[in-house]
Amino acid sequence: MMHSPTHAWARSLEEVNTGLMTNLETGLTSDEARLRLKTYGRNEFKAKHSKGPVRLLVQQFVSPLILILIAAALLTAFLGEWLDTSIILFAVVVNAVLGFIQEYKAERAIESLTSYITHRTRIIRDGVEQEVEPKFIVPGDLLHITGGARITADARIVRELNFSADEALLTGESLPVEKTTDILSETTTLAERTNMIFAGTLGMNGSCYAVVTATGSNTEIGALAKLVDTTTSEKTPLQKALGQLTWIIILVTTVVVAGVFLVGIMNDVPFYEMLLISIAVLVGSVPEALPVGLTAILAIGVERIAKRNGIIRNLTASETLGSTTLIITDKTGTLTEANMQLVDIDTAGDLLAPDYQPSEPRHSFDDVQQELLALARAASDVVIENPDADPADWVMSGSLLETNIARAAGLYHISPTASDKSAIQTRIPFSSKYKFSAVRIPAHLLPGGLEQYEDPHVVMGAPDILIERAYLGHDEKAKLQSSVAALSGAGRRVLGIALVTPHAEPHHITTEHIRHVTFLGALSFVDPIRPEVPAALERIAHYHTRVIMATGDLPGTALAVAQELGWDVTEHNVLTGAQLAQMNDEELDGLLDSISIFARVTPQDKLRIVHLHQARGEVVAMTGDGVNDAPSLKAANIGIAVGSGTDVAKGVADLILLDNNFKTIVATIEEGKQILSNIKKLFVYLMSNTLDELVLIGGAIIAGVALPLSAIQIIWVNLFTGSLPAIAYAFDRQLMKETERTSRTLFDPRVTFLTASVGAVISLLLFGLYLFLLGINISTELARTVLFAAFGSYTLIISFSFLDLSRPIWRYSLLKNKLLIAGVGIGFILMLITIYLPFFQYEFNTVPLPLPWIGFVIVWLIFNVLLVECFKWFANRWLVQG
Ligand code: ADP
Ligand code: MG
Repeated sequence: MMHSPTHAWARSLEEVNTGLMTNLETGLTSDEARLRLKTYGRNEFKAKHSKGPVRLLVQQFVSPLILILIAAALLTAFLGEWLDTSIILFAVVVNAVLGFIQEYKAERAIESLTSYITHRTRIIRDGVEQEVEPKFIVPGDLLHITGGARITADARIVRELNFSADEALLTGESLPVEKTTDILSETTTLAERTNMIFAGTLGMNGSCYAVVTATGSNTEIGALAKLVDTTTSEKTPLQKALGQLTWIIILVTTVVVAGVFLVGIMNDVPFYEMLLISIAVLVGSVPEALPVGLTAILAIGVERIAKRNGIIRNLTASETLGSTTLIITDKTGTLTEANMQLVDIDTAGDLLAPDYQPSEPRHSFDDVQQELLALARAASDVVIENPDADPADWVMSGSLLETNIARAAGLYHISPTASDKSAIQTRIPFSSKYKFSAVRIPAHLLPGGLEQYEDPHVVMGAPDILIERAYLGHDEKAKLQSSVAALSGAGRRVLGIALVTPHAEPHHITTEHIRHVTFLGALSFVDPIRPEVPAALERIAHYHTRVIMATGDLPGTALAVAQELGWDVTEHNVLTGAQLAQMNDEELDGLLDSISIFARVTPQDKLRIVHLHQARGEVVAMTGDGVNDAPSLKAANIGIAVGSGTDVAKGVADLILLDNNFKTIVATIEEGKQILSNIKKLFVYLMSNTLDELVLIGGAIIAGVALPLSAIQIIWVNLFTGSLPAIAYAFDRQLMKETERTSRTLFDPRVTFLTASVGAVISLLLFGLYLFLLGINISTELARTVLFAAFGSYTLIISFSFLDLSRPIWRYSLLKNKLLIAGVGIGFILMLITIYLPFFQYEFNTVPLPLPWIGFVIVWLIFNVLLVECFKWFANRWLVQG
């Protein structure tokens, strides 16, 4: 039985090794690991559950809207109006249950999203590097952590190279902590344990090997039992804004209703009756269904986005997505397939030939070319899960470019042998800032004629940057650069290979030590564009959303890819990182409209590009994958991490593309627009109905006529409107025609105008109708029944008018939303019951409507619908531009 050494940071590596009964070179054996998994359990811990169902249910009852209903129920019970009480209580239950279901679903949906994002950790077992799911890691396992990866257990560092970790989650320290292997004193505090790494933190730079000392709930983070890596399910700005709005509505209606109440008392309406009707008006005016509907819309939206391969990490993003005006996208993997075919290998000699021309794609390589390929393979850091399979079927992890190199090399049976691998220890991983990677290789891997290299390092990366650093005269460099430009102009992705002997201790070599290199040649790849991207680009153009490319690649390659995608661009639309650095913000601002490709950019450049566009009012969605992309992902309104990106990038992103595909960005933006669109419909529908009861009752009291509706009628109508259409809207698929101006915010001019105009005019018309009915020669009962029928069916029917605020009602299908049809149907049945069933007639003071009056109500409804269409037409004609 092993004993996890206490205070592992204060022990020597030998002590740690003995205590953990492992091997610091080859790791555990898989048999031992299996045994330990039984003993120690999985490397996971119960995260503090966000909200239990009980708490969620209780929460439904403390919402201000439900509290009003409950107060009303108590009051009516006190007044002995039992039917009112039961209807109100029924409404309370319906709303609370709907609210509960929706919020519970929302929480579940968001929780389940995290399960789509699988993290894998590199470990060494049986002497072989492999990737496992973090939950299978056991004490004694040897981890291999590189920059950008999530650390999934507590571990003592065995070897490291320039390794630093971001431990903010654990210690609050926002700067990366430099790690060492030095033995520390026992009293060292958590934040200063620089020879340890901790679960839940992130590798930032360099790499390290570390032996696991604790897993699961025994880790530091497990002990804190904090919720790590979950999507935040906080209330979104919109939910908060609507929450505030609800309070305002409640306050205002309470004041107005109190006023109406006083006027009523002064006009000799009996106190008792006046109190009851006031309660009913208050109940009728507050939009109970608003929060429920909003939650439902967001939850369903997030689910739909997940179905289209986008994972929302932050509910707020689902609202912002729909307003995106600019997408800044990466090239490789997003616009292209990242399925890079190695098509040529040129030595420096080839490239220097005076008449150099890129050759046709090659399918076989000679010995000299294979030597270069072997160097590239040695410099590639990939893990092959099934090395015995055919290279074409290899399942690999590592950077996209490097896995492609490994595959190409595999076809020539070039693969580093086990002994080579252990010699390849010092590795400077690729960084998009410096654009190369470097690795120390065994001297025998060097091609002949390069024996002079001691401690040789292969440097692999952007050819132009390597050529700049080469030992060559000006003319030769210029010739090489123009040959590389010719390659990239042909749409090739070009990768330079060079050699260097850095003058520094092997374990302290950094990018700074890679200065003067011997340029050996270049590999060139073709990376086909994703066939679905041109169609996606066309779709997004409809929404006035601009797309620009920001790539680390050569301008020539970027331009060729853009042209292949159908962009109308020439080199005048391309700006390089170097040019960018020469310009100040004003100069750049003048250029932004014409630049659609930023090439050879660094992550810092990307950050600047985001800021510059935001300063012009753009809502920016931006993709990224590397550690260094984190700042710009955070700065963008929507930070998008590609699925193949680093854990660091995923950790700060708002949206993760499971399939890296540009098409998915467009799909999620469309879903975002659907979300915004549905919220607008819901808002106009619910809010334009709030005034009706106030105007009817208030007006009747001021005019001194009999009250048009009884308390119970108001409560009844209120019960069956709202909630059901609200949920139905959440599922709606009718996407409104949006323009740049209307799509940005919820309270756009169209929404505001429609809410106010429909709300005011329809309620005044209803009151007018009532006065008219009283004026003609019919009984008051009949007049009130006609009004009740007109009022009730209006609130039902009008939900169809708001299915699309941008088009006339005859331009979209009313039958698509089955839920809405069902909801409205139920509403009509409930209303017919109150008019035609004797028991209800008595309670509701209604009389059966004779046929002509049914006809009258229908005509009235048609008139109302047409009127609302006029308002829609006006709003779209005059308030919506662009
Ligand atoms: P992109 O915007 O296309 O993703 P990158 O920033 O990934 O561009 O790459 C820029 C250049 O850096 C590439 O053209 C290539 O020459 C080089 N490069 C990319 N990945 C690697 C890597 N893993 N190792 C070495 N060099 C690389
Ligand atoms: Mg990249």
